[in-house]
Amino acid sequence: MTERLYYTDAHTVEFDATVVAAGEAGGRPWAVLDRTAFYPTSGGQPHDLGELGGAAVVEVLDREDGTVAHVLDRALPEGAAVHGRIDWARRFDHMQQHTGQHVLSAAFDRRLQARTVSFHLGAESSTIDLDRVVAPERVTAAEQEANRVVWEDRPVTVRFATAVEAAALPLRKEPQREGLLRLVEIADFDLSACGGTHVGRTGAVGVIAVSSWEKFRGGLRVEFLCGARALGRFRVLRDAVAGSLRALSVSPAELPDAIARAQADNKELRRVMRGLTEKLAVHEAERLVASGTPVGGVTLVAEALEGWDAAGLKSLAAAVATRRGCLAVCLSAAPPLLVAVARSADISIDASAVLRALTAEFGGKGGGRPELAQGGGLAAEPAQIIAAVTRRLA
Ligand SMILES: [Zn+2]
Repeated sequence: MTERLYYTDAHTVEFDATVVAAGEAGGRPWAVLDRTAFYPTSGGQPHDLGELGGAAVVEVLDREDGTVAHVLDRALPEGAAVHGRIDWARRFDHMQQHTGQHVLSAAFDRRLQARTVSFHLGAESSTIDLDRVVAPERVTAAEQEANRVVWEDRPVTVRFATAVEAAALPLRKEPQREGLLRLVEIADFDLSACGGTHVGRTGAVGVIAVSSWEKFRGGLRVEFLCGARALGRFRVLRDAVAGSLRALSVSPAELPDAIARAQADNKELRRVMRGLTEKLAVHEAERLVASGTPVGGVTLVAEALEGWDAAGLKSLAAAVATRRGCLAVCLSAAPPLLVAVARSADISIDASAVLRALTAEFGGKGGGRPELAQGGGLAAEPAQIIAAVTRRLA
């Protein structure tokens, strides 16, 4: 058994210990100490990082036999006296999130009888899974209650109890392990069996912010951020919102409506532009047909056109194909090329076969019907495409 210093003092950053066992697993050295301040991954909380006897601690494992294994970047000899130091910024962040979880879970439990069935402390945010669905305004009420308890700066204390003693206590959740239990109490608010690390008073959590929620396995998954993480997320949102407000020249409350208006305007403009493009295509087709070249019994109308998008090139090719005896190949001006191929009703050339031959030679993709086909991503200059089609017709 390793003596776990964090059980009685989560604020221990440096400590001295002796290596009582050492080995290697999966190519990585590990060491077990007589005592440690390093927290191993367990109970939804990730492991600590830090330094041990000059080696970097890269992972910490809670082993079945009650020992804590420190996975290291280099080996330490058995019997060595070592000095350890945990990465305090990472640990304190975990303490804020974990204590915040106790407070938030208790708030959901006490106010809404929604029990926490699991907890995950992630790299960016944390989640609790509630056993039932809760309405949005009730999520906000529980969040409010949790923050009240944070700001009242209540003591968070640890004590140990036997299973028999614990059975007589109002624990929020049935303990999941046997033997001596470690109880974490938030004064007059929550009592839970937990092996994790917590701050000494709720005030150190700072703030608990619920960032999102979704229905999950018949209950509700609630994502939240505590302390410095909440401030970090606030800054990200602040910069994103400030940028959007500058771009649209509106106040924060006007933002959703302004975005909806911009989207509606954009949709309308696209509709108008489609109509104009089709009209323009009819005029442009006249000019194109006049400059067509007779090849193999048809008029080949092949040209690179500046300023037309995929839909416009398709309209142009289709407009050319309303004349008699034409094969239209309309191209964008620069690679990777967009291509629209269309044939007049009185000729038998398969436009989709022409396109397939082009993509086989120059790459890209596309498809269509014998009358009209469209593709994109062809790695060629327009002149190469025109030469390839001319060869095919001749
Ligand atoms: Zn805990």
